[in-house]
Amino acid sequence: MVYIVKLLFFLFLFQLIACKSAIEEKNYILATTGMLYDITKNITDSTFKVDYLMGEGVDPHLYKFSQRDLQKLNKSTFIVTNGLHLEGKMNFVFEKLSRNKIVISVGDSVEKNKLIKSGGNLHDPHIWFDLDIWESCILVVSNNLQKQYPDRKYIIQNKTTNYISEVRKLKQITKKMLESIPTSNRVLITTHDAFQYFGKANKIEVKALQGISTASEFGIKDVNELVDFIIKRKIKALFVETTLSSKFLEAVQEGVRSKGAKVVLVEGLYADAMGELGTKEGTFLGMYESNVRKIVENLK
Ligand SMILES: [Zn+2]
Repeated sequence: MVYIVKLLFFLFLFQLIACKSAIEEKNYILATTGMLYDITKNITDSTFKVDYLMGEGVDPHLYKFSQRDLQKLNKSTFIVTNGLHLEGKMNFVFEKLSRNKIVISVGDSVEKNKLIKSGGNLHDPHIWFDLDIWESCILVVSNNLQKQYPDRKYIIQNKTTNYISEVRKLKQITKKMLESIPTSNRVLITTHDAFQYFGKANKIEVKALQGISTASEFGIKDVNELVDFIIKRKIKALFVETTLSSKFLEAVQEGVRSKGAKVVLVEGLYADAMGELGTKEGTFLGMYESNVRKIVENLK
């Protein structure tokens, strides 16, 4: 039975990739992550139907597409991806779909010298945490949309200008908030290594138990090293991402406690996914500000 289901699934996928679908909708745009959905939704008008694949609490590194996603991919004419291997398990699908549909990868458009290397030829994909880089990604989505939908060009241009001005305001506000953290406390520790761009942009040292991807492994040695670092640097708080379990950092907290020190565990940091749609944290601006507020409250 499982074999038949799998076979049908791959036949459907093959059909999707092999031919331009009859149910494709001209103004249906699909974004992979919430952050890309937020850009696309904010710079288009109501003549577009903007959708996304990965919602609240979904880890993009380990994401596997479902039957429902195939229907969304089938309907779309324009797909916005992060690239840089963030959507690791879906790369081959996007590659094949780009034969028939417009598939853009904002990460691939960023100048290489602005990207953070993550070993070999790979780069850290968490580019939305550098607001200057993210601004260039907004323009990439906007320019491609204007090219594809020339009749909506001026509306997209105007909305892009407004969205970028909101992002610039956010940058100013959060920079000021972060300045209140004393130099010795400027260390952000999370489960996986998603905040290197954030750290670089805001002069905050960043440490994590896992690597750039949540698929990377770690061992007892990594836990012990982090425990020693926390004690030596008198770190006050550890931050758990909303897409991940708290059990790994709980082990670190326990290690610190067993050596007679104390560190607080703060949950609810938005790393690879926004909050629930319809709430403030379900927007890119709200998610970013919520993170900064949490970091400032617990580190200053
Ligand atoms: Zn990540």
